Amino acid sequence: MKNYSKTKIIATIGPSSWDAPVLKEMYSAGMDIARINASFADFAELERVSNTLRTTSPRIGIMLDTQGHKIRVTGLEHEIQIEGEISIPNTFDITYPDLYKDVSVGTRILLDDGNIQLVVKAIQDIEVICTVIQPGILKPNKTVNIPDVNLNFPAITEKDKADILFAVEHRFDFLSLSFVRNREDILTVRELIGDSNIKLIAKIENVQGVENFDEILAATDAIMIARGDLGIEIPFEKVPILQKQFIYKCRQAGKPVIVATQMLESMKESIQPTRAEISDVANAVISAETSTGRNPVVAVATMQKIAKEAESVLQQSPIYGHTSAPLEVDELCRNLCDISESMKLKGIVVISNTGQTVLSLSRHRPNAPIWEISSSLEQIRHDSLLNGVTGFFLKDLPQDRDECTQHAVEVVYAQGELDLNDKVAIISGSSIRHNTTDAILEIVQVKNVLSR
Ligand code: PGA
Ligand code: MN
Repeated sequence: MKNYSKTKIIATIGPSSWDAPVLKEMYSAGMDIARINASFADFAELERVSNTLRTTSPRIGIMLDTQGHKIRVTGLEHEIQIEGEISIPNTFDITYPDLYKDVSVGTRILLDDGNIQLVVKAIQDIEVICTVIQPGILKPNKTVNIPDVNLNFPAITEKDKADILFAVEHRFDFLSLSFVRNREDILTVRELIGDSNIKLIAKIENVQGVENFDEILAATDAIMIARGDLGIEIPFEKVPILQKQFIYKCRQAGKPVIVATQMLESMKESIQPTRAEISDVANAVISAETSTGRNPVVAVATMQKIAKEAESVLQQSPIYGHTSAPLEVDELCRNLCDISESMKLKGIVVISNTGQTVLSLSRHRPNAPIWEISSSLEQIRHDSLLNGVTGFFLKDLPQDRDECTQHAVEVVYAQGELDLNDKVAIISGSSIRHNTTDAILEIVQVKNVLSR
């Protein structure tokens, strides 16, 4: 097996990267999950791309990113110069019809990721007149942020509803939900997806998301720190500290956390990242997203290289606090990090049922790799998001414990990960036959297990 980083890489794919040959190369360069932005793909396209991904490898997780409460410029056919004074909707319109009701004199309106800045000067009937503070060239369909106002969006838009149902129906693995404001936003989506096992990722990208972080974390499966919008919606100097705080809270809770946006922004055009970007990726080495651009394969490979270097000096950092796993699983996993160091274990084999054990273990970032054995490809894709976790597919998990652990070690051994003299830990439920959620820990020498 290739020696990939423990940090997982989510690549946002688009028209420049979503054909089979490029996806294949991105996968072998180390992409774990492909993110598709629902704002830019119709259902026919989504279907085609997801089929291509599944054929490239059934290991690649597919993530659909909802549009959420994202406002965009409409009614422009070509780019225009924005300067002096402008009128919404006369100079251009936006996809938020209630603008005139919600803003007041002095409200800031930011266009194109904040590159063009306006301030409301007057409201005349349904027309909002703005003074241009920072002029620039506005292209069609660019983004609009109105950070000062609590926008009056429905819990879920019709577009999101349709996109979410599409993702569920086509068995995508992850839904990333844009502009999540509170726990209810997550629960609304949970209700919509019914008993689907698709994992929900709450994107934190505005003031409400930051303020209600704790309740959102409790309701979601994972968090994405969406630094693009976040850096516009709140003062950008707050983003680095929030990033660290959120990562810590996610690790405590045993929930994956993704650091997103501009990780290797300059590689959209260049084959070399900037020195600041290298440092950012190394600092974020937790979970990362790459941007599409002209060099998607090089971008993934670069991220791998930076992550591996940072990881080579990182030490495991056991963390307290409880996950949703049973207490005995949490306690066992934390202590196992110590044991695996003092006994120089080569790896930790987890015979998985609910996936709670790998979540509880991965948050400590143990030095030893985590090998998850699962009879579900879907679970392997879900857990491909977790730091340090590699999934191994075993079609039928034997019900007998001895037989099951033997097969588990065999599959890892067969991949060339182990030597006969190595020692490994094996965690499973106390009864494999009855699929229990408690835990048994074995520490064994590979050759003894294989000759059972
Ligand atoms: P987006 O989300 O790319 O869907 O806007 C990420 C971000 O805002 O950082
Ligand atoms: Mn965003």
